[in-house]
Amino acid sequence: MTKIQMTTPLVEMDGDEMTRVLWKMIKDELLLPFVDLKTDYYDLGLEHRNETNDQVTVDSAEATKKYGVAVKCATITPNQARMSEYNLKEMYKSPNGTIRAILDGTVFRAPIIVKGIEPYVKNWKKPITIARHAYGDVYKGSEMKIPGAGKVELVYTAEDGSETRELVHNFKSAGIVQGMHNLNNSIESFARSCFEFALSTKQDLWFASKDTISKKYDHTFKDIFQDIYDQEYQKKFEEAGITYFYTLIDDAVARVIRSEGGYIWACKNYDGDVMSDMVATAFGSLSMMTSVLASPHGYFEYEAAHGTVQRHYYKYLKGEKTSTNPIATIFAWSGALRKRGELDQLPELVTFADKLEKACIDTVEGGEMTGDLALITTLPNPKKLDSEEFIKAIRRHLEAAL
Ligand code: NAP
Ligand code: MG
Repeated sequence: MTKIQMTTPLVEMDGDEMTRVLWKMIKDELLLPFVDLKTDYYDLGLEHRNETNDQVTVDSAEATKKYGVAVKCATITPNQARMSEYNLKEMYKSPNGTIRAILDGTVFRAPIIVKGIEPYVKNWKKPITIARHAYGDVYKGSEMKIPGAGKVELVYTAEDGSETRELVHNFKSAGIVQGMHNLNNSIESFARSCFEFALSTKQDLWFASKDTISKKYDHTFKDIFQDIYDQEYQKKFEEAGITYFYTLIDDAVARVIRSEGGYIWACKNYDGDVMSDMVATAFGSLSMMTSVLASPHGYFEYEAAHGTVQRHYYKYLKGEKTSTNPIATIFAWSGALRKRGELDQLPELVTFADKLEKACIDTVEGGEMTGDLALITTLPNPKKLDSEEFIKAIRRHLEAAL
């Protein structure tokens, strides 16, 4: 069999722990035998980030601007425990945060729907896509511990030197304070990415914030969405038969639970972080959630929504078999290959991506799955496979389809 050709490389961002182990298995079993894989490789594993003082993360994001499409493995976001575990020179920021800040844009997360894995919320019939704003707020915040009595203020110094002040709090005793920001440009990009994605997938768009409490910060998000909708999208939405709907975040949460799905829920950065894990879990499994960062400049970075599955990795290091689900990571590859195929007009590559995804779904629907799915499936007598066996089973389905 001749391998499927590629013309432009994908930016490949390798990662950490169990997902790094899966990454190699996926390439060896499901990609390299079938595709003449071209990648521009960046090792975002924590050891190499530490060696390069995290420059490799910046370089990989810059390469994504050059080539347009990236695929990323899950990576460790360092905390105190990781500092000593990996003997780090400093507590590097989240690679995802760094990459999002460089590429701007919005993260869209959608569950992979498979027969036999039923949502916990029994009225959910269609996927709910979470659009997470990928810039600013608490992820770009600065914080202080306030040791004792004293005044904290926000100070804006304009270029002409004039100052505007706003009292945060007059502390009588120790406390904490946080400053955060966002940019109108970024919120506008976020809104446009969401309206565009809604049109291209013909789904309603919901957006929610807490504008009743946050009368300037959150209200600005609400106003920007509404202005762009009124001026640029209202007519297109009406023609497409879809709607834009704004409500308060707490009302949105209640409506989401009562809904049957099938819409995009645009969330501010933190809401998206929290709600995407809730929605993913309620759809069945965190390991079945896809994620793509789409920038308004047309750059795409595909990844799984879950982390590095640290608990499984420690078992793997002890030589135990693990049953870690590779599906979301495989869908990151198929998403990136499909986009590359579309951009470079390589229909064979697009078809390969479709068949790879179908092979994953067919394998699960045929009763072979990893432990996370075997625990919750409604299929009778599921066969629980370890990671390696499961990837080999997918390969059998893929080979049959090719
Ligand atoms: P996690 O890696 O997502 O795993 C949490 C738990 O969810 C696992 O222990 C496992 O449950 C289950 N799980 C997640 N993915 C699974 C899969 N593919 N197959 C089977 N089970 C799966 O989150 P974490 O343990 O909180 O974080 C580990 C590391 O990942 C952290 O260092 C964090 O910084 C990083 N992280 C990275 C990203 C990213 O790069 N996008 C995102 C989130 C977290 P059981 O143990 O019960 O089987
Ligand atoms: Mg999260």
